[in-house]
Amino acid sequence: MSTNELPQIKIAVVGYGSQGRAHAMNLRESGFDVVVGLRAGGPTEVKAQADGFTVKSPAEAVKDADLVAVLTPDMVQKKLYNEVLAPNMKQGACLLFAHGLNVHFGMIEPRADLDVVLVAPKGPGALVRREYEIGRGVPCIYAVHQDKSGKAEQLALAYAAGLGGARANIIKTTFKEETETDLFGEQAVLCGGASALVQAGFETLVEAGYQPEIAYYEVLHELKLIVDLFYEGGITRMLEFISETAQYGDFVSGPRVIDASVKARMKDVLTDIQNGTFTRNWEAEYEAGLPNYRKFQQADMDHPIEKVGKELRAKMVWLQAQNA
Ligand code: NAD
Ligand code: MG
Repeated sequence: MSTNELPQIKIAVVGYGSQGRAHAMNLRESGFDVVVGLRAGGPTEVKAQADGFTVKSPAEAVKDADLVAVLTPDMVQKKLYNEVLAPNMKQGACLLFAHGLNVHFGMIEPRADLDVVLVAPKGPGALVRREYEIGRGVPCIYAVHQDKSGKAEQLALAYAAGLGGARANIIKTTFKEETETDLFGEQAVLCGGASALVQAGFETLVEAGYQPEIAYYEVLHELKLIVDLFYEGGITRMLEFISETAQYGDFVSGPRVIDASVKARMKDVLTDIQNGTFTRNWEAEYEAGLPNYRKFQQADMDHPIEKVGKELRAKMVWLQAQNA
């Protein structure tokens, strides 16, 4: 559907970080009336004002909004909903999330009069914005948790279209599927799995006496070339581009490293996600002030691959230009 079918709709975007900024800007250019809700003096307030938005406190911003997009970090959403959104949102409004975690695991129990939907672009905010600006879009997935008005799905689709998602692809999902697959992907493969694989490969080479610089190029730097091929044309495209020797090595050694025991542990990770163990632990960690989180983060940053990587990246001028 076109966004023109809902011309009156007022959207309050709460949070102006990675997703918040991209959503607010794309929706405004798609013709929606957008106000940004932020804590006064918070870190992104100046940015939203510089982008030309009216910035109000979250409580003020949501008062007359037809749709409230909750784009703050996941772990502050429960308190934000209970203390600010629930008491201030108007009857029959729509509550929208970009990740289903809080609703799916029951940390947030939305008021019965609200529509509750999810619209998650499959990319970071900067890409959501950049694609929109050049007239394209990032695929979006959407879901409906609560449909009080009978128009919840229409609203989610209009919002996804406003982000530019309709120019790419829009797929229907559920809060359960989005939450569990998103957590699994980032834990087992994208963030957790990939970084542990790279670190283990680096350690194996360095412990065998090879130079850290060479090890860095082999197991971290070149990963980008492979991932680019996956992204463009799947594993088939990678196989087309790598040498016969690399293919043979892939076939015989890949399954030795990532064997059935790894898959069994992936299933354990998925079980912990599905039964809520992961989310309970994460909430407890957050509430305790992130003691283990900070320790793990420091350990990653202190890993020897980070030191050599920093030195080597400083000598790759094209990376400097990208980071500027
Ligand atoms: P972020 O950390 O980049 O930005 C958070 C914003 O919320 C900032 O503007 C911050 O100042 C504000 N904020 C923090 N606490 C607040 C409070 N108590 N009240 C009001 N504002 C507050 O967050 P993000 O990465 O854009 O994530 C937002 C949501 O989008 C999350 O639900 C996340 O799971 C989801 N998401 C993120 C990505 C991504 O690529 N980053 C992708 C898909 C979905
Ligand atoms: Mg994620």
